[in-house]
Amino acid sequence: MTPRLRAALDDIPVYRAGEALAGLTKLSSNENPFPPLPGVLDRAVAAAAEMHRYPDLSAAELIGELAKRLGVPEDHLAVGTGSVGVLQQIVQTVAQPGDEVVYPWRSFEAYPIVVRICGAATVAVPLAAGARLDLRALAAAVTDRTKLVLVCSPNNPTGPAVRREEFAAFLDAVPEDVLVVFDEAYVEFVRDDHAADGLDFLATHPNLCLLRTFSKAYGLAGLRVGYAVAHPTVAEAIRKCAVPFGVSSIAQHAAIESLRRQDAMRARVDAVVAQRRRVREALLRQGWAVPDTEANFVWLPTGVQTPAFAAECRRAGLLVRPFAAEGCRVTIGEPEDNDAFLETAGRWFDGRR
Ligand code: PMP
Repeated sequence: MTPRLRAALDDIPVYRAGEALAGLTKLSSNENPFPPLPGVLDRAVAAAAEMHRYPDLSAAELIGELAKRLGVPEDHLAVGTGSVGVLQQIVQTVAQPGDEVVYPWRSFEAYPIVVRICGAATVAVPLAAGARLDLRALAAAVTDRTKLVLVCSPNNPTGPAVRREEFAAFLDAVPEDVLVVFDEAYVEFVRDDHAADGLDFLATHPNLCLLRTFSKAYGLAGLRVGYAVAHPTVAEAIRKCAVPFGVSSIAQHAAIESLRRQDAMRARVDAVVAQRRRVREALLRQGWAVPDTEANFVWLPTGVQTPAFAAECRRAGLLVRPFAAEGCRVTIGEPEDNDAFLETAGRWFDGRR
């Protein structure tokens, strides 16, 4: 006899990570291909020597450094165990059984999971043409029961970023008592001048909460540090829902040092962006209908052929991320990995003409 678990958990899948297999090139989790930024490993190792102590509960130095970089007061910030951990905290601040949470789909896989864990109902809004978010449809899906709307920009796994004008109109259309999370996990990779930067909307919209991470551009995926930027009342509620001491000392020190290495970070992100452009243009030339991407990945609409395409990539030594009968998401890697992927994609496309 096992304990009586919450029935709501029966339908909730365990979060599925991108595959990792020794000897194969991992292009399945949108990671940064580079090692830690200069000085970061040394500082993390120094922090490790203090591992018999609890970390700073309030992450004061990290919060101070973030506030300085972002130009926001410290009371607007909350850090947590990766942005997915922060997202879980955010959902806990507003959602309970009987509530609705609106989000785009296909988008980040964790959205329906964290919502359902809180017992709230999921309202998934299909993407628009070009695999873009449909901001109007998202706003139109809000009801009296809606507590939260999730907006992902650039959208994982499809790539496009939300435009400034459409985001402004969306924020004006959503009631002020509904929280809006703007998930900017890939914001550092955005190069489109028309893309919305969440920071520009914070002062005018107290119901807006930005979600950012050290996992992508800063390359600290293995250490689990993310943060929210929000109105102080919301930020405090998010901190209340934190697992105490969730962000380790090693992670805090690595994040602080990484923030101080802006030039090196930007140079690496620029290199990824250059590769992203090269990969997308080559795929378009091959004939693929690849949506615009402002992130560190591309989306291939492989449809029902998705498992076969992922298997073909694996035979070529590449792990990509298949999504059922929809498509494959492929992370931009080092130039030679991208070459190998382009060769496989080109061969596959020619074979199906
Ligand atoms: N948001 C989006 C859109 C993501 O793609 C991811 C990671 N795949 C996350 C949040 C979570 O990242 P992390 O927990 O590593 O910060």
